[in-house]
Amino acid sequence: MSANQAPSIIWFRQDLRIHDNPALQTAIERGGPVVPVFIYDEKGEGKWGFGGASKWWLHHALNDLSSQLDDYGLRLIIRRGKSGEELKRLLKDSGAEAVFWNRRYEPDVIKRDKLIKESLTSEGFEAKSFNASLVFEPWEIKNKSGKPFQVFTPYWKHCMQQKIAPPVSVDHQQAKAPKQWPDSLAVEELALLPDIGWDTGFYDAWTPTTAAARQRLGKLAASNASGYTKNRDRPDMDGTSRLSPYLHFGQIGPREVFAAFDKHDSDGTKGARKFLSEIGWREFSHHLLFHFPHTPTEPLREEFNHFPWEMDEAYLQAWQKGETGYPIVDAGMRQLWATGWMHNRVRMIVASLLVKHLQIPWQEGARWFWDTLVDADLANNTQGWQWSAGCGADAAPYFRVFNPILQGEKFDPNGDYVREWVPELRPLDTKVIHQPWEADLDQLGGVVIGRDYPAPIIDHKQGRNRALQSYEKLKALRSK
Ligand SMILES: Cc1cc2nc3c(=O)[nH]c(=O)nc-3n(C[C@H](O)[C@H](O)[C@H](O)COP(=O)(O)OP(=O)(O)OC[C@H]3O[C@@H](n4cnc5c(N)ncnc54)[C@H](O)[C@@H]3O)c2cc1C
Repeated sequence: MSANQAPSIIWFRQDLRIHDNPALQTAIERGGPVVPVFIYDEKGEGKWGFGGASKWWLHHALNDLSSQLDDYGLRLIIRRGKSGEELKRLLKDSGAEAVFWNRRYEPDVIKRDKLIKESLTSEGFEAKSFNASLVFEPWEIKNKSGKPFQVFTPYWKHCMQQKIAPPVSVDHQQAKAPKQWPDSLAVEELALLPDIGWDTGFYDAWTPTTAAARQRLGKLAASNASGYTKNRDRPDMDGTSRLSPYLHFGQIGPREVFAAFDKHDSDGTKGARKFLSEIGWREFSHHLLFHFPHTPTEPLREEFNHFPWEMDEAYLQAWQKGETGYPIVDAGMRQLWATGWMHNRVRMIVASLLVKHLQIPWQEGARWFWDTLVDADLANNTQGWQWSAGCGADAAPYFRVFNPILQGEKFDPNGDYVREWVPELRPLDTKVIHQPWEADLDQLGGVVIGRDYPAPIIDHKQGRNRALQSYEKLKALRSK
């Protein structure tokens, strides 16, 4: 068999789409049959194996990818095991001579993929990786001193002066199927769905398909994201794109998002610019993770290794269950449990309560999010938690402690978000819905604090002062 007639493997990972997929296009262009493969390799994910909610999403995304490939006569081959070993088995089973994939940026995955590439190449196979997940490769963007950026605004300004590549067009019609398909597991055999019915609410909240992602993007682009700037901080409104899980699993890529807003630089497109700068935060998070690979578990600002965190199981559990007595926090934690997603503003509020008022290590919060978010993403989650804890790049200063009452009143002014997720507070007067413990009998509408809904687990002022004292201690330690 001559080289260009031998099959090529396209190894799908976090690029679960058939459009704008450079690895797939390369496999097609090579000329031989295309063997699409997904390998479920829990160990290969290193310290950050798939969380429960991510597994749910992955199950559905694999089914969706499989049916998209079907349309072009291709089949998604599913295997479980060590990626390197499975790829070699598949090369043998299919007679393929090349493996193409799109890059990932998690430190343990980078190490694994590098070894795989070296091993395949040394055995004479062609092994190439591509960029499908980011607009800017982390190593391409450097500050004036040639170092990685650590502050978002100059990072994004610099990025916006670079050329933005358009989505890659894929000649699906040219894709050839092999004469014989290698063995495959069914998606169900990966047992990704939870045993308990924790995911029932996910089905109402999400359609985890590429078509749904494109529909969401199309809707936002049609209005040039005009309401985004005004409504993006309002958890009681449908003011953001909810594209995060689709972007994480690569059902849609950031180049397609940029292409949908091709006029974002012109006048009157403030919403589009703001929205694209959030995609910029995603890029920045990946930039940070790549250059500072220790940060999923350790603070970027080293002095925070000396911060007097206090692990308290009871506090942590109250926070996880949405029983802190702060309505906006509890609403967020329950939205997360019920739907696998939480509004960004509320993520910041719940994180602040955990790391500041309760002084629980940010890593505990990051772990909980990892298991419960459908968009759990090592780069974005690490950056979000380090930002909230004040120990990351461009972070909120530690002494800026969110007031959960004022945040609730400002961003959920009618209490609709709280009423949706904390039904026991529905009878309350809106004036007191963000601080029910201050309500008089009339305003409570029959709700009894301490019986129907908890009193705050920590007084706001007390928690704030304690956080500030700890911060002073940290400063004293640093100056010694
Ligand atoms: C403590 C904490 C943890 C977080 N963990 C994650 C996570 O695991 N996965 C995740 O995707 N996002 C995470 N975020 C960022 C952000 O909250 C979500 O990306 C956003 O809420 C997703 O909703 P959306 O798609 O409607 O966002 P939009 O407002 O519509 O934004 C569009 C896209 O931009 C990206 N984006 C938006 N905000 C941020 C941000 N602050 N940092 C990085 N990327 C951003 C996302 O890909 C998002 O889909 C976290 C934020 C905090 C404060």
